Amino acid sequence: MINRLWWDLDEVLISSLEINQGVEEFQYDIGIRVEDDIYHVKINPATYPLLSFSRNLLGPERVWLLTASTRNYALKINQACDLKFPENQILTREDISAIVNHCRFDPEFKNPHKHKDNILIDNLPARQNEEKMIVGGIPLDNYLKVDDYYGHYQEGWREKIEDFIKKCHEN
Ligand SMILES: [Mg+2]
Repeated sequence: MINRLWWDLDEVLISSLEINQGVEEFQYDIGIRVEDDIYHVKINPATYPLLSFSRNLLGPERVWLLTASTRNYALKINQACDLKFPENQILTREDISAIVNHCRFDPEFKNPHKHKDNILIDNLPARQNEEKMIVGGIPLDNYLKVDDYYGHYQEGWREKIEDFIKKCHEN
């Protein structure tokens, strides 16, 4: 069973470049503005099928976004790319740092998100993602490190994730 599935955002569901990074051949889908910065965003072609698949399998209330990006950025991407995460199912840099600080320094704190049946799908290796694992209480077996999505889809990328979700769901 899966309690909650956490999706990473950048280099998984989407890839984005700040416009002044100026990679001209980046074929983006949409442009967004966050405060003073403009980003070109490419949506992974697997994103909508994977979000539908996971919401249908687990129920939409179990499918969350967990990103080290800022809240302003994540909310803007969620809306502009129509990812359809309810705002209370999006945890961002600000939430991660608050929860991790509580976990480290407040012995009374009970992390409401922690669960042994949570899973995380992320492009970073687990050892570089300690804070997200603390937030979700993610056991190592429930962590799927996927190949970075930089705007070029690789065959089999979606199927590997679906297989992982199915396997965790059946356990
Ligand atoms: Mg990422």
